[in-house]
Amino acid sequence: MTQIERGGIDFTCTHCGAIYEISKTPAHDSGAAVCEVCNMIMMEWVDSAIPLFRAKESIVDAKRHYLFGSSDSRRIA
Ligand SMILES: [Zn+2]
Repeated sequence: MTQIERGGIDFTCTHCGAIYEISKTPAHDSGAAVCEVCNMIMMEWVDSAIPLFRAKESIVDAKRHYLFGSSDSRRIA
């Protein structure tokens, strides 16, 4: 009954360290994946299998770490 292919590839956003799992879809197209945490482009593809990015850990937690840092240090813009 499992329709989803297993064996996804771990992918870590190089910008913020958010961890995703990539599954490939049968569809081919061109596009780009934008990180849900830092809004940077993680990957671009041209006329190839569309990768599906799924956050492995809570995006909320990753976002909090990204925005506020891992410790209590404050960042002032
Ligand atoms: Zn990111």
